[in-house]
Amino acid sequence: MICVSIGRSSIKSLIAEHHQLVEHGAQLVELRIDYLEGSIDLKPLLENRPSPVIITCRRVKDGGKFQESEERRLVVLRSAIAQGADYVDLEEDVAGSIPRFGPTKRIVSLHDFRRTPADLDQAHARLVALDADIVKLATLAHSPHDNVRMLQLMQKSPVPTVGVCMGEIGTPSRILAPKFGAPFTFATFSSERQMAPGQLSFREMEDIYGYSRITPDTEVYGVIGDPIQHSYSPQIHNAAFQALGLNKVYIPFRVPRGEVPRFLEDAPALGIRGISVTIPHKQTVLAKATQIDPLVEGAGAANTLIFSGNQIHAYNTDAQAALESLELEMRQKDQNTNPFAGKPILVLGAGGAARAIAFGLKQRGAEVYLSGRTAEKAKELAEKLDCRLVPWEERGGVRCAVLVNCTPVGMHPNVDECPVEKHMLRPAMVVFDTVYNPENTLLLKHARTQHAKPISGIEMFVRQAALQFQLFTGHPAPTDLMRDILRRAIAPARS
Ligand code: NAP
Repeated sequence: MICVSIGRSSIKSLIAEHHQLVEHGAQLVELRIDYLEGSIDLKPLLENRPSPVIITCRRVKDGGKFQESEERRLVVLRSAIAQGADYVDLEEDVAGSIPRFGPTKRIVSLHDFRRTPADLDQAHARLVALDADIVKLATLAHSPHDNVRMLQLMQKSPVPTVGVCMGEIGTPSRILAPKFGAPFTFATFSSERQMAPGQLSFREMEDIYGYSRITPDTEVYGVIGDPIQHSYSPQIHNAAFQALGLNKVYIPFRVPRGEVPRFLEDAPALGIRGISVTIPHKQTVLAKATQIDPLVEGAGAANTLIFSGNQIHAYNTDAQAALESLELEMRQKDQNTNPFAGKPILVLGAGGAARAIAFGLKQRGAEVYLSGRTAEKAKELAEKLDCRLVPWEERGGVRCAVLVNCTPVGMHPNVDECPVEKHMLRPAMVVFDTVYNPENTLLLKHARTQHAKPISGIEMFVRQAALQFQLFTGHPAPTDLMRDILRRAIAPARS
């Protein structure tokens, strides 16, 4: 179950929002009394309430807004109990002085906005001892390992426990709460109205992650990277899992550099079966892989890991996805079976995408030219893959049949940037921009006006995800659905 937290300055708005939420399916609502301005009257909030409620009146030091005296706050909490609120939230230091009364259930809570304490079990035991019906722990995550500790604590606790790791790193603790036995977790009314760091909205929890379908048996997948919040992979993979009726969920894991090895060790404890890997971890993950696919070996980078027992199998779906996207366009003009053989192709960039694509193109017999802004990196990659090195300043002079942009130049929000001068693009040239947000980059706009053939990164993104989906599930991916979801997800972000 999701508990939606709402806080408004007026009682009227709080009641209206409560009703609206229940109409949209909310089953439990936390009324944040500390957000009210003026005199606090609980009667209209509790009378004819459309769903069970938690009454919370949070002090400033615990992340709330209540500015009046502590004495006044305790009066509010006692009166919530006297008036039969379904639940009342009592912090550790006041729970002992407010006795149980009537049917109201006691949520005994602890908030730590600085860290997830090392002695989490002891803190939990202290809260349990305060006559708790439910224990609530909300602590800031600094490491993905904090999620593991919090989720395992919820799983083993004999007293129902809602454990939340706050902050972006803590997001998995919210989404995976039902897998680990939490009675509920907290979400906001809307994504613009976060009440604690890292909180997701009620709609995101349900529409993207299918929260109410998550059970202890749900298999976990996800994407690791840093940053990760702008990834579209959760939208498209979860939509595909849901379309096929699979009991799987796909989660964004923000894993800072240096935390990758421990995250991979923790993966089985979280129920993780497979992950996508994005910037900056595509090379780092290789150190922990026990089996490495030949494409990964060649590209020197992995974008997919599959966990099986103690084994971690590394794959790279970027190269195949990029070559398939190119082939779709090039086959139409060129009917021979290998449209890449002998073709002069200029690859811009020397990062993970460039490595995978240049490697794939070389394998298919293309004459690959490589150009990157950092000369040493480009030189090293060109030598490794036996490509022709082109100094960055001279990239406009290459007479290529195909141009592949593997730099983020032109990506949102820098949509007015283009990695080459427009005049370099000639009629009939194939111009492939791996950037997919926006779909129509400046490079592709220039390609159209120059009568070149533009290919957007959308197709590659969908295809690399579809190949991952096949590895995750053994089923062919619903690619049309994934493409549709990606386009719809990108559209609002562009405006
Ligand atoms: P990466 O490993 O960080 O490599 C980025 C490359 O771009 C590096 O060579 C970097 O040069 C260069 N670069 C960065 N900013 C630049 C600038 N302003 N001017 C010139 N060169 C610049 O990233 P990646 O994984 O290869 O991804 C690169 C891009 O490919 C992403 O931004 C994404 O748009 C696209 N991509 C698309 C898909 C898809 O499925 N469509 C998949 C993967 C990647 P330095 O080394 O000098 O920093």
